[in-house]
Amino acid sequence: MVEKHKLQVEAIRKGTVIDHIPAGQGIKILKQLQLLGSNVRITVGFNLPSKDLGLKDIIKVENRLFNEKEANELAIFAPGATINVIDEYQVQNKFEMSIPESIEGVFECPNSNCITHNEPVQTHFSLRQSKESLQMKCKYCEKSFSKDIVAGI
Ligand SMILES: [Zn+2]
Repeated sequence: MVEKHKLQVEAIRKGTVIDHIPAGQGIKILKQLQLLGSNVRITVGFNLPSKDLGLKDIIKVENRLFNEKEANELAIFAPGATINVIDEYQVQNKFEMSIPESIEGVFECPNSNCITHNEPVQTHFSLRQSKESLQMKCKYCEKSFSKDIVAGI
């Protein structure tokens, strides 16, 4: 049996629940998803009590399923968050978001001289976790930036 109460949000029939987001990161994920401007139905819970994290955010998106690639693009904001894929009120699939080795076509290069601003190429960043922060290296200008600069939020 699925313990629905564990999700701390109203059960949804079909869609995706992103759970165990570190508190404060939920809003960044929403922005990244650009869901707020669309007519997808979203329920969010911010600063909910969490055994592991102290406080956590939850995002529930109805009728929208994320594949692992999409989920991992969000992982830079919330490594360790979990994705629950829901169908007919049941968790069909559950996986932990993990930082991908690279991200293509999602973020602009912060270097204004980078060729990606003038050529019709998809941006491409290699990701590397250093002690302090997640570093993103542009394939084209070969500059490295912290994820906060690349993600711009
Ligand atoms: Zn670049």
